[in-house]
Amino acid sequence: MITTADETLLRRAIGIAAAAIAHGDAPYGSLLAGPDGTVLAEAHNTVRRDNDISAHPELKLARWAARELDPGTAARSTMYTSCQPCGMCAGGLVRSGIGRVVYALSTEQLVELNPQSGAWPTVVQDGPALFDEARGPIDAYYRPS
Ligand SMILES: [Zn+2]
Repeated sequence: MITTADETLLRRAIGIAAAAIAHGDAPYGSLLAGPDGTVLAEAHNTVRRDNDISAHPELKLARWAARELDPGTAARSTMYTSCQPCGMCAGGLVRSGIGRVVYALSTEQLVELNPQSGAWPTVVQDGPALFDEARGPIDAYYRPS
């Protein structure tokens, strides 16, 4: 359930997205709010500027949270973001321990507004293979004798 307090912070994330354009960056913005709603960090998309495909604001904030927050604080923190996190960012969010995400535009809505946003090809993945060889480093690390 999205509250009026959520909407206030979501509007701030949309404002970050709008401000990104003035910096020559793509229009995506996010912020991370702590358990009491205090804004802890903000970020916008800098993929072009940094020439870094991972410079999505959600992933930058997930990495920040994993470094800077204790697990209990992260779990009670909320990310507000102008668009629904992509698959890359969703994976980072899970690993960061951030407890909740509130987004404005869904991926489907974004693609309606900008069809190029949904033009990602799938990657061919072949496997599993070479189990007995590949398990060596896993066993050595997790089950040292
Ligand atoms: Zn992303």
